[in-house]
Amino acid sequence: MNLTGRKIVITGASGFIGSHVADRLAVDNELVLIDDFSIGPRENLAQHEDAPNVRIEEADITDHGQMRELIGGAEVVIHMAISCLRTSLNSPLLSHDINAGGTLSVLMAAHEAGVERFSYVSSSEIYGTAQTVPMSETHPLAPTTVYGASKLAGELYAFAYWRTYGLPVSVIRPFNTYGPREPYAGARAEVIPRFALQLDAGRSPVVYGDGSQTRDFTYVSDTADGIVAATACDELVGDVVNIAHGREASINRIAELLGTLMNRQEIAITYTDPRPGDVDRHFADTEKAKRLFGFEALTGLDTGLAKTVDWLREAHIADRIDEDAAGSPNW
Ligand code: UDP
Repeated sequence: MNLTGRKIVITGASGFIGSHVADRLAVDNELVLIDDFSIGPRENLAQHEDAPNVRIEEADITDHGQMRELIGGAEVVIHMAISCLRTSLNSPLLSHDINAGGTLSVLMAAHEAGVERFSYVSSSEIYGTAQTVPMSETHPLAPTTVYGASKLAGELYAFAYWRTYGLPVSVIRPFNTYGPREPYAGARAEVIPRFALQLDAGRSPVVYGDGSQTRDFTYVSDTADGIVAATACDELVGDVVNIAHGREASINRIAELLGTLMNRQEIAITYTDPRPGDVDRHFADTEKAKRLFGFEALTGLDTGLAKTVDWLREAHIADRIDEDAAGSPNW
């Protein structure tokens, strides 16, 4: 389908990845951007505040009445709102309520509205750790964390709506995404901004476990392009696709690359206990996205890390968080 001149609802729109997807689709569509602003700050959508084609709505995805009202009349829904992995380690019920229950609430509303496309933005966490690499979409689904399990429940609900009611659902599985607007403070902070802020403050990056665990780090502009292209792809309806860089990097390697980039080679890594349920290895097979809609990630790790560090510096993020947040070993 052509994503031009459409009425599109995005949940989780002020989030890290959601806000980049909104930026792309605001160019030539009518958007309803939904978020409860619990994770992604409203300032991530500041560029759309006065746009006549964009409505920004504070709402709770688990409130079906609100979802029915906001999704009514939409042609496309891109469902990205989540409670994140790190939150799930301390608040598993919240993870279940938002990621599983919230997804069902949004699916029900989308079905009632008769939307033409429903993209469920899932997560590489539904695979658990790699049993074979590269990990294609047929890799076994064995999530380690409650977060991964709740995201998988969301996938299963989405496919149930496709099979039972014919809701045109596409499932998109992004791997670890990094870049501007990434969560950097407190329990929601992700590894790359954490290490960058620790190094910036002259402190050791704190690695959980031995640092040999890998992730398929994908720059946010690539992830956002992939989500938009996957949503437009008719062949993906009733199916699932990975969106990733298609390379793996260890957490030790990330610490080293950032140390070099930030001229902090002399700072040694500090190792601490592994994080509970931490995945050992993620490395995506990206062939399906390439075959179905010509997607390929364009940004290499060196370039992406440099852009991320520039953003942290330009936004004066180190000045905005207290000293302890950058050094905190808690998850
Ligand atoms: N990690 C780490 N130190 C940190 C934060 C994360 O060593 O301060 C590790 C974490 O244990 C995991 C990887 O970095 O193996 C990626 O963590 P992140 O929370 O960024 O993403 P996840 O893949 O867990 O969603």
